[in-house]
Parts: sequence; structure tokens; C-alpha cells
Amino acid sequence: MESNLKVENVTKYYKKFKAVDNANLTVEQGEFFTILGPSGSGKTTLLKLIAGFEEISSGTIMLRNENISSKKPYERNIGMVFQNYALFPHMTVAENIAYPLKRRKVKKQEVKQKVEEVLKIVHLEQYANHYPNQMSGGQQQRVALARAIVFSPPLLLLDEPLSALDKNLRQRMQIEIKSIQENLGITTISVTHDQEEALTMSDRICVMNNGGIEQIDTPENLYKYPKNRFVAEFIGEINLLKAVLIKEESGYANFQLSNGQVVINQTRGQTLDTKSYLIALRPENIQLAEAGKDLKNKLQAKVESVIYVGEALIVLARTKEGEELKIKVPSLLSHAILPGEELAIGWNPQDATILKDESAAAES
Ligand code: ATP
Repeated sequence: MESNLKVENVTKYYKKFKAVDNANLTVEQGEFFTILGPSGSGKTTLLKLIAGFEEISSGTIMLRNENISSKKPYERNIGMVFQNYALFPHMTVAENIAYPLKRRKVKKQEVKQKVEEVLKIVHLEQYANHYPNQMSGGQQQRVALARAIVFSPPLLLLDEPLSALDKNLRQRMQIEIKSIQENLGITTISVTHDQEEALTMSDRICVMNNGGIEQIDTPENLYKYPKNRFVAEFIGEINLLKAVLIKEESGYANFQLSNGQVVINQTRGQTLDTKSYLIALRPENIQLAEAGKDLKNKLQAKVESVIYVGEALIVLARTKEGEELKIKVPSLLSHAILPGEELAIGWNPQDATILKDESAAAES
């Protein structure tokens, strides 16, 4: 696949404050790429640098092999959709959508044809002559999307485009925008702090924290193989057990847990060059150690509470050493799980991720 956008060693200072710290990323042609991170992590700043609304302090931004680092926003020819729609209230839907074409001096007949085309794409054929304030939030956002794609930009930027909508509408729009994006094959970068939205819509996600990029990967890989504790805790839920490395051999490593027990986990090619680690387990990776089940790693924990969530039970339990565990098991069990009960649980070597215990590294 041909790459569309390349951000190389990009840093942005606001006075002495580093809002973006040496960002490197490549977005492929036709890809839906999401920048995800907590508030203040630098997502919007990175998007503004790509759009040209802010100047980079150092680094390079390449769009289709052209260095656009010092170009003005309008010279970059990028489509943008903002959280607050930013439609012109005194213009009809058709006039709003026609605006970028008129600015580019496109011929009248072609403008008419293009506007009709995108109105169809966003399912608003009937609304050409309406004004924005006569439309719902979801419809206005579709107009904003139509206006951003009508001039066939090489890149579409979405800045928290759905955060003003209620949850049901947001979920419907996620699917709709994703399908429009796929059908048109338009390269898209979206900024959000909503991990569910990122997981639903993206081909790849870039996780940011404190201005830096923590990991760029597919939704599945971020969930299954987070690179560090921040990503593991930010995407989905995770149990972390403190562990000390004992030995490593042919793709497997033995660790000693806080209670002295030794467990074995797959290393997946990871270099284990320190002593202190965290065994990271998603709630559904922990199983009940029932008779007949072959689990390599076993542990005891005392049940504190059990929550029924339809297809599953969420069991909150605690080890003797005080480590809290959240376990997700199928709700169709042969016996009930009760608070106070000592539960035998376990996992297999391939189901855990090994993370460096950065807090231990800082202490030593
Ligand atoms: P949010 O999800 O809250 O929008 P974000 O991840 O998009 O957060 P940014 O808006 O990129 O974060 O801000 C990153 C950091 O840079 C924040 O600490 C913010 O206070 C700071 N910042 C952003 N814009 C400016 C500015 N114009 N001047 C000074 N500091 C700024």
C-alpha cells in the first residue's frame, strides 16, 4: 500500500511546554487512522499541525510525497470536520456543500453535479434547500462531512466529530461514516478520546500520552498485545500481577508471583532485560480452574462480589497478597459463585501479556 501521510520527528512547543513530542507516524492510502488518548495528551495539537492551523517547532509532514510542513491550511487542500459542525447558518445545505468548490472556482454545472453526488452519499437528497438550524445534530454532521469530501481531498481530518451527539446516534453515525469512508476509499485521520469509537471505526489506532506516541497498531493488536502498562490500562480492562523473572527459554518465561508461586508465560519474541514485570491478563483470559480443565497457571483468590451482565458474570476477587482481580466467565455455570468463596482460577501461557513494571524500575 502506498503511504499517504508521513509525520516525521514532529515536535510542537507552546512556549516552553512540549505538547507533541517527536511524533512519527505513517498513514496509508485509504486507511482510517485514529489518534486516541486522554485529555491533554496532544491529539488535537497533532491534528492541527497536520491541518496547518498550528506551526510545527521541528520535523517534517509529507502529504503524497510533498513536504507540506510550512504550507498554509488552504494550500494543503485537506478536508476537515469539527466537533461543532461549523456550518454557515445563513446558507442552505446545498450552498454549504458548494462553498469549497466555489472557492476553488469550479464551474457552476460541475458544482451542481458534485453537490448532488455527495448529498446522495450522505443520504440527504431531500434536504438541499434546508438551513442548518432546521436539521438534527446527526444531519448537520452529515452536511459537514459532505462539505469536507466534496472537493475530493487527499486527506480527511475528523476532530471529535461525534462527541456532540447522544450515544445511540453516535453509534449509528460511527457505522455510517466508516462505510462512507470505505466506499470512497478516502484516507482519514480522526481524533477521539472515546476508545469504543476508535475500536469500531479504525484500521489502526495511535495511542498518545503526554505528547508522545505510546503505540500504533490495529484495534485487535492493541487489545491483545499492548506494549506497555499505559496502553494496557487505556484500552479495555486489565489485571496486573507483579512478577519477577526467573528464567527464559525457547519462547517461554518463568516468573515468581508475590505469593511465591511460579507461573509460565509466552514471551512472543519480547526481550526480557530486567527483573520486575507485570503479568497482564484481560478479564476473559482468566478461567475457573474446574475439574478436567488443563490450566498451566493456577491461583487462589477470594470472591468479593459477583455481577451478572447477561452473557457473562463479572467476578471481583482478591489474592491473599491483596492484588485485585476482575474475572469474566460465562454466566451459564454449573454452580453459583458466591462472595466469600475461595476460587481456584488460572490461565494458559499464551493468554497473558508480559509488561515491564515501570514503577519498580523507577524505585530501584
Ligand atoms: P482534549 O481531549 O482535552 O482535547 P488533547 O489530547 O487534544 O486534549 P491538546 O489540545 O492537543 O490535547 O493539548 C495538549 C496540551 O497542550 C495541553 O496540555 C494543552 O493545555 C496544551 N495546549 C494546547 N493548545 C495550546 C496553546 N495554544 N497554548 C498553550 N498550550 C496549549
